[in-house]
Amino acid sequence: ELPPINADFYQVSELLTDDERTLQLKVRAFMEKEVKPIINEYWLRAEFPHELIPKLAALNICGVTYKGYGCPGLSNVMEGALAMEMARIDSSIATFFGVQSGLAMGSIYLLGSEDQKQEWLPKMQQMQLIGAFGLTEPEVGSAVAGGLTTTAKRNGDSWTLNGQKKWIGNSTFADVIIIWARDVDDDNVKGFLVRRGTPGIEVEKMEDKMALRVVQNGLITLKDCVVQEHDRLQNANSFKDTAKVLRMTRAGVAWEAVGCARGAYESALAYTRERKQFGKPIASFQLIQNHLVEMLSNLTAMQTMVFRLSQLQDENKLTDEHASLAKVFCTLRTRDIVSRAREVMGGNGILLQYDVARFVADAEAIYSYEGTKEINSLIVGRAITGFSAFV
Ligand code: FAD
Repeated sequence: ELPPINADFYQVSELLTDDERTLQLKVRAFMEKEVKPIINEYWLRAEFPHELIPKLAALNICGVTYKGYGCPGLSNVMEGALAMEMARIDSSIATFFGVQSGLAMGSIYLLGSEDQKQEWLPKMQQMQLIGAFGLTEPEVGSAVAGGLTTTAKRNGDSWTLNGQKKWIGNSTFADVIIIWARDVDDDNVKGFLVRRGTPGIEVEKMEDKMALRVVQNGLITLKDCVVQEHDRLQNANSFKDTAKVLRMTRAGVAWEAVGCARGAYESALAYTRERKQFGKPIASFQLIQNHLVEMLSNLTAMQTMVFRLSQLQDENKLTDEHASLAKVFCTLRTRDIVSRAREVMGGNGILLQYDVARFVADAEAIYSYEGTKEINSLIVGRAITGFSAFV
């Protein structure tokens, strides 16, 4: 009789309330039943499983922490635990959800007028409307804070947008894309709700991605795209406001990394207990056990770290450097964990049907988005030394 596979070695889940734990297990069951059996096929074809959207909506978790507008108003710890549960089965679905619930709805929740919140949030909460968040550009990634080149020019009651955006998740089918652009008159960054079908916006699907293949990333071209003043995010006045959205969502990305690592660890541990070589389960070999213990050590450190991170968020004490430290540590450790998972599985570690190959690929995207390791390290470096290493 083998011990149960337990990836929550220090029982971090026991720190959740009973209701939170129930919801966590509900989302886990959903991911195992609805997502796990179909996701490799979609990953291979680089398509999004649209049939999952109403099922995800029915869980009633979208807009996790927001109050009002039909949102559940749960804790940040809960939001993180849900991101982890999704990524434990598939990081693309976690990313789709993070863009919709975090980046897109979060921009409107934090920076929209009351009218804008009323118009968009209830339907986005129900996932009847899908959102995207367009910040990164083909030539401007890490340097978005000072470097956006997409322009917005006001003419009376409307604005004209020109420029390009790259990597924008969900944008190929989104009903609304939040476009961040520089006001040519006052040089400040502003946010615009660009509705699907608006003349002057073109979205081209980015093909041949080798990670997060289920996520539909778009290359967006704006050519004299006219947006009404009432569709400008009314409380987004400079990049400092954009950064408020990113601060809120970056903690979620750290939790996603934990989920990806956890899924890989659980698959690898199960595999090594089944697979026999030299007449014995490979899990009985010392070198294999060493890999498993290294994986579990990092996973345990990551889980305790993100839990405390989200507690700080719940206590309104979260700083940029708190979120950045966890994003760097967890995504870096996840890369190590998924590569050890792949290693202990031998050749089967590169076969999609064993799932770990997908985790290995997807960890690369989580590592780079929402601020690379370098950029998040510089944010922490600036906080601890008092010197900014940014140009
Ligand atoms: P670059 O900025 O060109 O960086 C290249 C390298 O240089 C990196 O290693 C970087 O760390 C390093 N570097 C840059 N500056 C410095 C410095 N000062 N010191 C040291 N090193 C430095 N964006 C959106 O707006 N919306 C989305 O929905 C979205 N989804 C994404 C989904 C995926 C799968 C991916 C991969 C990206 C997504 N992005 C999205 C974009 C993402 O946020 C950027 O890729 C990221 O910010 C890095 O920018 P970059 O790729 O242009 O790299």
